[in-house]
Amino acid sequence: MNQATCSFDPIAVDGEARAGALTTRRGVIETPVFMPVGTAGTVKGIRFEELESEELDARIILGNTYHLWLRPGIETIKAAGGLHKFIGWNRAMLTDSGGFQVWSLGALRKITEAGTEFRSHIDGSLRFLSPEVSMEVQTALGAEIAMAFDECAPGEATPEDARRSIELTLRWAKRSKDAHVAQLLNLRPDDESQTDSLRYRQALFGIIQGAGHLDLRRESLERTLEIGFDGYAIGGLSVGEEKHVMMDVIEDIAPRMPVEAPRYLMGVGTPEDLVEAVARGVDMFDCVLPTRNGRNGQAFTSRGKLNIKNARYALDQSPLDESCNCSVCRRHTRAFIRHLYQSGEMLASILLTHHNLAFFLDTMKRVRQAIRSGQFAKFRREFTEQLHCGLE
Ligand SMILES: [Zn+2]
Repeated sequence: MNQATCSFDPIAVDGEARAGALTTRRGVIETPVFMPVGTAGTVKGIRFEELESEELDARIILGNTYHLWLRPGIETIKAAGGLHKFIGWNRAMLTDSGGFQVWSLGALRKITEAGTEFRSHIDGSLRFLSPEVSMEVQTALGAEIAMAFDECAPGEATPEDARRSIELTLRWAKRSKDAHVAQLLNLRPDDESQTDSLRYRQALFGIIQGAGHLDLRRESLERTLEIGFDGYAIGGLSVGEEKHVMMDVIEDIAPRMPVEAPRYLMGVGTPEDLVEAVARGVDMFDCVLPTRNGRNGQAFTSRGKLNIKNARYALDQSPLDESCNCSVCRRHTRAFIRHLYQSGEMLASILLTHHNLAFFLDTMKRVRQAIRSGQFAKFRREFTEQLHCGLE
């Protein structure tokens, strides 16, 4: 079966929070880790050199199967020798299954036992995504970590709807695993240059669903563990449910997840969400907030969110965040970045994206240090207090 894909070693534990090392064929990733989202093979608004720089040092980024499958298409990526070579990134990657993107198309998609039929948002063509297709695409992309194809229930799903959703997700999880094993076994030796010796080396993570219903979440976890994956993700959160529901699910489920496997909270969240989820036992995160909000003029700071469009910053000679040591904060003022934003200059998005990613990644670095030194509770209290004391 799926041997030697990736390994996870918990190094330090502080309460439920854990610091660990996730070893992949493309390097060791210290956890807890934030993974910047590279939807279409690019983390929007930032060059790969910056992501690799000592300042940001992103060890792993995300790629979106749905987007890459539709455009440029798998043949283009195969011709380059896989996603890493196509985009020029030699560090670790994780690809999602496409399930969430297809789910978020809403009325434009039709879900059956076989899979999901939908219209491409690019050219309107009819497409079909299933566990088997998702595994075929993710194997071709060749990330270190692939995700099982799941179905997400809305945050406010009734117990009946959430039950139907976890049953379908479990059947799809089994099919995903079978298809993944078959894909890797089918790689011929001469395919290995294309997939960069992928055989046996791409991990597959299972996804726990069940909306806000703890009994269904626990059952989903138990039965996903029975199928057996290299790591486990909590999916279907931050999809419209109340914040306390999300935290209740994480608090109940994360400590029940295997100690020796990475725990990944999908699509979450703000810096505060990250710290709170770490406190409940989560190791891995991804979210579009630092990049998307950066493009919309919003900076995340140690004192909360800052909207650069606000007129109060027009003459403000201070950096985005006084406590941030990133290259943007060392060089530029709020007044200048606001001017760039108001003028529609692309540099506004670039600078805000850079700072936001620096803030997210630095926060996780401080989280790891705090856990390793047994100071996480203190870090969490001070981080939260400062976040809520407001911008100067
Ligand atoms: Zn900064």
